Amino acid sequence: MTTAAAGSPRTYQVRTYGCQMNVHDSERISGLLEDAGYVRAAEADEQPDVVVFNTCAVRENADNRLYGNLGHLRPVKAKHPGMQIAVGGCLAQKDRGEIVRKAPWVDVVFGTHNIGSLPVLLDRARHNTTAEVEILESLEVFPSTLPTRRESTYAGWVSISVGCNNTCTFCIVPSLRGKEKDRRPGDVLSEVRALVDEGVLEVTLLGQNVNSYGVEFGDRYAFGKLLRACSDIDGLERVRFTSPHPKDFTDDVIAAMAETPNVCHSLHMPLQSGSDDVLRAMRRSYRSERYLGIIEKVRVAMPDAAITTDIIVGFPGETEADFARTLDVVREARFSSAFTFQYSKRPGTPAATMDDQLPKQVVQERYERLIACVEEITWAENRKLVGETVEVLVAVGEGRKDERTGRMSGRARDGRLVHFATGELAGQIRPGDIVHTTVTYAAPHHLNADGAPLAHRRTRAGDAAEAGRAPRTPGVLLGLPTIGAPAAAPAPTGGCAAT
Ligand code: SF4
Repeated sequence: MTTAAAGSPRTYQVRTYGCQMNVHDSERISGLLEDAGYVRAAEADEQPDVVVFNTCAVRENADNRLYGNLGHLRPVKAKHPGMQIAVGGCLAQKDRGEIVRKAPWVDVVFGTHNIGSLPVLLDRARHNTTAEVEILESLEVFPSTLPTRRESTYAGWVSISVGCNNTCTFCIVPSLRGKEKDRRPGDVLSEVRALVDEGVLEVTLLGQNVNSYGVEFGDRYAFGKLLRACSDIDGLERVRFTSPHPKDFTDDVIAAMAETPNVCHSLHMPLQSGSDDVLRAMRRSYRSERYLGIIEKVRVAMPDAAITTDIIVGFPGETEADFARTLDVVREARFSSAFTFQYSKRPGTPAATMDDQLPKQVVQERYERLIACVEEITWAENRKLVGETVEVLVAVGEGRKDERTGRMSGRARDGRLVHFATGELAGQIRPGDIVHTTVTYAAPHHLNADGAPLAHRRTRAGDAAEAGRAPRTPGVLLGLPTIGAPAAAPAPTGGCAAT
């Protein structure tokens, strides 16, 4: 059913909005479509046979953007008989049938719980020449059971859980992604192993709140154990995770990070606000003292750790004193980077209807002060690394810019972005290879290393990049964790970077 009239395979394109969860879901969407016989459309192809929008409901105006993009596709579809448009992701989960009422030229609407149905829905819509809308209220199959077309040869996402048991008042995730479902550690590790077998060097464990991992199968120390188990996987050089939650962060995780050689010393821990009153209004059940206490312990255990965060400015009711407290915490925490957001209403969240929404200019002015404060600190933190040797996992570059500057880029073990000169090794270093080099200059958001590299290691990931092969993980052997398993620990609440 997936071949075009001329007999050639139907082409597809996935357009992704939003967070890492969506980026990883898009890898699954691509894997599913390729398993069903579709082929990825060329970048420049303006008329793929199938266009899938993987949407995000987090931002205000996300729906205007989607309907605008769907509107642009309408004349394209009219000129291209047989073209199909599918809409999935959080906005689809939220708007459901409304999408085909507003944009009747859409063929398929699918939700966050049934990504796996997409190929069948496309076939059915084509066969019946009607729109197919299928939204499930809860997860059918753990999404990692689906075939996945990975975007990178050297780094991969691996979900350890989906959904969230918390109720942060600015966040739409719990109502759209449902309650937390944890994947069995053995299944997670099997997927990690499968990726490493394909040459992947770095894995990021993904969950809305990784620190509550294990709540479903009754082990509150499961996340630390999972990190430690990663050290048994030969060839796995770097392990990262996102996002932790300060409320559920336990000391054993810090110990596991410090004592497991392949776990990177980088921690992205959302602060959101330094004011306890605002944290309360956000329904984030830790306080700034606890947050700073975790950072203190991380720094004692791993003095080289880079700590990054997310901060929301201008939450409803935030006073100047509240904001000043956020600046205090930023100064004390000494982040190496911070993602800063101006609060904007997200329809369907409790905060959207709170009194005391702040005027835009107040939010803007605080935001600018926050950025200035953050940059002063991140720059000072980065300057401490000038003269140090860093290990860089080389990333896919920026084409012409790299040629012009004679540099390539990648991430240090602590997650910092490094632009490095290739010197005499120009042309030999591939994405996925490992380079050691010395930092010569620091900017607020990156480091430069302009001397010749000290060492270059060719890797299997680099070979795969050179050969144009991306890893694929098949959708087998990974089971949905038992639902209803007794939970020994009380259900934790937590938070993430869902900004
Ligand atoms: S911000 Fe993170 S922890 Fe809070 S409700 Fe959203 S997903 Fe859960």
